[in-house]
Amino acid sequence: MATLFISDLHLDATRPDTTRQFLGFLDTVARRAAALYILGDLFEAWIGDDDPDPAQRVIVDALRGCTQAGVPCFVMHGNRDFLLGQRFAQETGTRIIADGTRIELSGDACLLMHGDTLCTDDHSYQRLRRIVRQPLVQWTVRHLPLRQRQRLAGRLRAGSRMHTQATAPEIMDVNAEAVRETFRATGVRNLIHGHTHRPAIHELDVDGARCRRIVLGAWHERGSVLTWDERGPRLEAWP
Ligand code: MN
Repeated sequence: MATLFISDLHLDATRPDTTRQFLGFLDTVARRAAALYILGDLFEAWIGDDDPDPAQRVIVDALRGCTQAGVPCFVMHGNRDFLLGQRFAQETGTRIIADGTRIELSGDACLLMHGDTLCTDDHSYQRLRRIVRQPLVQWTVRHLPLRQRQRLAGRLRAGSRMHTQATAPEIMDVNAEAVRETFRATGVRNLIHGHTHRPAIHELDVDGARCRRIVLGAWHERGSVLTWDERGPRLEAWP
């Protein structure tokens, strides 16, 4: 049986087609999987588990259907949905896993990340990330009224769009040295991440060891799925 990895679906009410694709994916391929890993940015924004947004409730229900059918589902925070919390986990039956979680796949140690922490050339983004990931900041945000959190998320999204337009593409990709450091520090030979929207399987040499960095694709017109079974890893468009 295959283990599946996806990321960067950026689901919200403005992307009904992507939502439909994801629901179809959960009903078919995912149902036959040994496990499903969602490595960040499942949602375009997540301002708290108490948000009644119907577009998000549909996804919560569909994920619950998948876990109730017996498929273990794991969700990692992305830079858009890092406020996904325990209530979401309970309602969906998924488990929230930390950035940098290590798993074994047919005997291979594999490191799972969202990928944003590897983009170390993007200094202004890393500064923002340090601020919004502080526990006190998150605690404060979680306790703001829903309306205020919606406004805050809107401002952050607008800022992110401006930043993307004003920043050179190579700055927004991973830093090669940060990747090497990650392989050295963890000793794994396989790294799977998303975030950069540049799907590819990169082979690289780290101090004489052959390592593999697998980058998941974003879901736009079509989905992007990494399937890992006894034949190894395959990146495929879906459907
Ligand atoms: Mn991201």
